[in-house]
This record gives sequence, C-alpha cells and structure tokens, in this order.
Amino acid sequence: MNRQPPIRGRKKRRAAANPLLRVLLAALGVALIVALCALITPLMPQVDPSTMQPAAAPTATPVPTPSPEPTITPTPAIYAPFGAQYGHGGEDLLPETPAPSATPTPTPQPTPSPTSGYTTLRKGSTGAQVARMQQALIDLGYLSGAADGDFGSGTQRAVTQFQAVNGLSADGIAGTKTLTLLYGGDALSADEAPEMDYLMLVNRDNALPADYVPTDLVAIADVIPESVLKVKYRGTEANRVATQALYRMLEDAIEDGVSNWQVSSAYRRYSDQQALVDQSVARYQKNNPSWSRDRCLSATYQTVAPAGTSEHMTGLAFDITVPGVSFTGTEQQKWLHEHCYEYGFVVRFTEEKQAITGFLAESWHIRYVGTEAAQIMTYNDWCLEEYVEKMGL
Ligand SMILES: [Zn+2]
Repeated sequence: MNRQPPIRGRKKRRAAANPLLRVLLAALGVALIVALCALITPLMPQVDPSTMQPAAAPTATPVPTPSPEPTITPTPAIYAPFGAQYGHGGEDLLPETPAPSATPTPTPQPTPSPTSGYTTLRKGSTGAQVARMQQALIDLGYLSGAADGDFGSGTQRAVTQFQAVNGLSADGIAGTKTLTLLYGGDALSADEAPEMDYLMLVNRDNALPADYVPTDLVAIADVIPESVLKVKYRGTEANRVATQALYRMLEDAIEDGVSNWQVSSAYRRYSDQQALVDQSVARYQKNNPSWSRDRCLSATYQTVAPAGTSEHMTGLAFDITVPGVSFTGTEQQKWLHEHCYEYGFVVRFTEEKQAITGFLAESWHIRYVGTEAAQIMTYNDWCLEEYVEKMGL
C-alpha cells in the first residue's frame, strides 16, 4: 500500500505528459495480443478436440491423424520379425504377451538369429551329430543298441516316437525344434509314452480268437443315465474306463447344447459278430438268388467285419447315433468328430484312411485309445494302424 502510490504517480506523470502516445501504446498492445492468439490457436485445438470430443462432434475438427498416442508405429516392428522368423509352429517361442508398451522403442528388435539351429538330420544322415542324437535317444529310452552315427530305420522310428510323445509333429526328421527339445533336458522319456492298455489293434489282419473276452466290462446303462445317453439295445456292455470317458464327453456335449445321443452298439461277442455276418449273407442270398454263398460272403465282408476282426470285440468301440436319424451330417456327428479326441476317442474309420484300415468310412464308430494316444493320432492325422506302426508297438 505504501509503495504503490509512487509508481502510479510516475505513470500518471508520463501519461499526462503525452496522451496521444498512451493511446498509441494501448492500440499496439491490443494488436500484439491479437497476433499472438492467432499464432497459438491453430496449435491448441490439435491437442484438445482430438482427445476430448471425438465422439461428440466428429465434424468440428477435420484434422486427419494428429493423435498424440504413439503406439501404432512399434507394433509391426514387434510382430513381423517373429512371424517371419519362426513361421508355423513357432507360436510357443513368442514372448509372453507383447503388450503395447507406453514407451515406444522404435529400435529394431534384437531377435536371435534364426539360422543358429542344428543341422537337420534324417534317414541316411551319418556322422558325429547323428551319434550325439542317438545317444540322447538311448538315454531317454527311445533307442536301444549303440550310437553308431548311422541314421537308419530304427533311429527314424525312435525320432518319430520321441516327437509323438513330446507333442511335436512326428515326421521322423530331426530338425532344430526336435533337437533343441531332445538336448534341452525337459523332454519326456519313452516310459512316459501312452499306456498300451487301450491300444489293442484289431482289424482284418489282426483277428481275435473266438474265445477272447475282455476284462472289466460294464453295462453302459449302469454308468450313464438315460438323460445323457439312450442305449438302443438293453444290456449293451463296454469297457468301464471307456464308458466313463464316454459319459464325461457326452455331459460336456450337452453342456455345449448338443444332446439326444444314443449308443447303437458297443461290446460284441465273437458269436454276435458271426450272427451279423450270417444275417447279411442271408439277405444277399434272398435278394440275389443266383449268387453263390462265397459271393454273398465277399459282398458282406465289404461292410461287415468277419468274426474276430471287429473292434467291437474289444469293448473299446462304440457306435454313437441319434435315434431315428442318419448320423452323418448331424450336429451330434460334427461335435463328436471335433471333440472326441479330448476324451480319448478317435473316429476309427475315415474316408482318407480307408486303404489302411480296410473299412469304409463310419462316422458313428468311435474307439477308445486313451487321451494321450488320441491326441497324438489326431495331431499327426494317424489312424490306429499308423500309430501302432510308427510307435513300434
Ligand atoms: Zn462300429
């Protein structure tokens, strides 16, 4: 309060000295402020409207891409090298959740060299690298004998088994992925392979004796309630473990909204199968009186398995159907084919494997093999015959 009067007094004195100058100065000041505002305003809206009112008034600011968010640029720099580097099957090598970082690092990703792997070894390869691989396979129980550095059929089968058990694509060729896992110390050994119990191979070349009776049979209706599965023929039996897996599977199917399941056939005795053959022969003879019995029999064997060669004799096979409907093409069939491997089943007879299985495709016939084997078969697109051969069973 005490200091201000002198200042005012000074201004007053100058203003009073020249009133014209005072007006001029005021005008100049206003002009300066106007000019400054004109300079600043085009910069200001770039920040404010884009962040504050993009939804409210999109037409107000036609600024194309002034977004201050700098996260767009680094994204391709992170993903492209990985995709290009590891290609198919390399998803597991991706870094965990490459979340868009708040602080962008536009530096080129220092990815490990893709070529610094192992030399691919395959049937016919020889030398120290083959011997090293063989020793690792011997240590894990996949190969017996000596590591002689010669990649022959036995070694190929050992590599195939190692790959299958460890969830790799089982082609019998040891590339970087296979060898990295083999030498890494985390691989599963041969005794961790799927159990043999449910892998019994029964087909035209592998018949069961007439007196074969599987152990551990149960009446399906005693395990699975009718609300989940209708049993077409009273008293139909099957293997206990397989039936329990079937129950779990159908419960999940129903939870997915796919219901109305029926089992038309499961365990069959040798005599049951023989009866099916006889019925079919009689039908052919009736419809074709000129045919010989042999001709009727060979016609029958196109679709009906000779007694002893049907999987149904194992108690591990089920014919899954929908009451009163042709199964192929139903939503039940689609669900079954998509999910059955998760529960240890495989669709046993497909069109693609017809030449190997010796049976026409049967969309309804599933076979229990255990979850691990079912996964290996499904992943590698092997039928049971191929599985047994490649796994050296
Ligand atoms: Zn069947």
